[in-house]
Amino acid sequence: MITAADERDSVLHSWCVQRDWRAPTVVGGAGAWFWDETGRRYLDMSSLSECCNLGHQHPRVVDAIAEQARRMCFVTAAWGAEPRRRLAELLLERSGFAGGRVFFTLGGADANEQAVKIARLARGLPDGLIVTRDRSYHGASYAGMALSGDARTPADGRWLNVVHAEAPYAYRCPFGSPDASTCGERAAAHVGELIDAAGPAAAVLMEPDAGTNGVIAPDSYWPAVRRVTVERGVALIADEVMSGFGRCGEWFAWQRHGEAGRPDLMTLAKGLTGAHLPLGAVVVSAAVADAIDDKMFASGLTYCGHPLCCAAGVAAVEAYERDGLIERSRRLGGRMAARLRAMARDLPIVGDVRGGHGLFAVFELVRDRATRAPLSPWPQTHPALTAMVAEGLAEGVSFAVRGNLIILAPPLVIEEQDLASALDLLERLLAKVNVACLSN
Ligand code: PLP
Repeated sequence: MITAADERDSVLHSWCVQRDWRAPTVVGGAGAWFWDETGRRYLDMSSLSECCNLGHQHPRVVDAIAEQARRMCFVTAAWGAEPRRRLAELLLERSGFAGGRVFFTLGGADANEQAVKIARLARGLPDGLIVTRDRSYHGASYAGMALSGDARTPADGRWLNVVHAEAPYAYRCPFGSPDASTCGERAAAHVGELIDAAGPAAAVLMEPDAGTNGVIAPDSYWPAVRRVTVERGVALIADEVMSGFGRCGEWFAWQRHGEAGRPDLMTLAKGLTGAHLPLGAVVVSAAVADAIDDKMFASGLTYCGHPLCCAAGVAAVEAYERDGLIERSRRLGGRMAARLRAMARDLPIVGDVRGGHGLFAVFELVRDRATRAPLSPWPQTHPALTAMVAEGLAEGVSFAVRGNLIILAPPLVIEEQDLASALDLLERLLAKVNVACLSN
């Protein structure tokens, strides 16, 4: 039998010191639950990597993969493939990008790289400036790191002509704004100032809502960034890799702002197949598609629009729709956020509660609520918080923690009773962390 120790001996794992990697082997799952080789079950409060939006082993998606596998596993992009065309049509429909086009990738990082390439091609600026922001994550490839403003992958983006704007981080507003709305407006204006100072820019690339760094922009931000980019003729790319497919209560998070939030391009991955198979996409508007229609698009991926992955994507889109999961996420996300806010009142260790537009919310922990002093310096995680995650696992619930943030992003199919029990457990565990960290 394969054991965890065996896997550490043979596999290089992500985001860890290799010697420290230690984890049970997951052998099965259903809905919001998965289980390991010993039969121990875990309620998944982070959709593994905020990607299993449909839960584990959604039957419709599993069947679609099997059916496509029996018919035709692979067709290159030099030939047409029915699931590829169908998925592109569905994405253009759900996003209202009529007349647009979709370029398929293998995941989120390469979707962002390709989006940058396409935006530059459309703008006729092959090396044009790209503005992204601090406290963002766009992938771990070299270009993904250059685009990201992430403490794990500090990278000088200048080789890719990337500049980073200050984050619309209202709880610790870099502009010292008096309220969240002003912080959002000020941060958006700053994007315009950066573009004006640097000369012609090709694109602004940002997460419109949920992200690994736990910064959720105030409502004033995204539409203001849209205005700033329209005024300057710069393409706006929404990185919807995490925020899409119901995670923030809409098909795509920008839709919460209606047409005032519509980007020129958006990048997708994770929820696109609910992580049943690896797939990413760049969805481009009709105007961008027109601008590049007569130009050579010097790009290609062997597995671009892989039929198996696209068949999973088609089934996933149908599942979100038939199971009413986008609305469900909005409804349960609102309730989850309300419960978290109520919980926070009695837990001084919680400095801020963010999110709740869908099933994505963040607790930010502090040493002192009045001064907002972080529980530990970013991006370190306090040992008490690491212990809390271990206790959660021992009680059968898997919570995700990053630095001082607890990130709650369960599958959109989670049973209401399971969600309530997980939040009860979180309250009990956090009360202990509160005592351990704030009483001395
Ligand atoms: N963009 C965002 C917003 C993400 O959250 C992630 C992954 O977490 C990525 C891009 C990178 O996606 P991938 O890991 O599929 O390359």
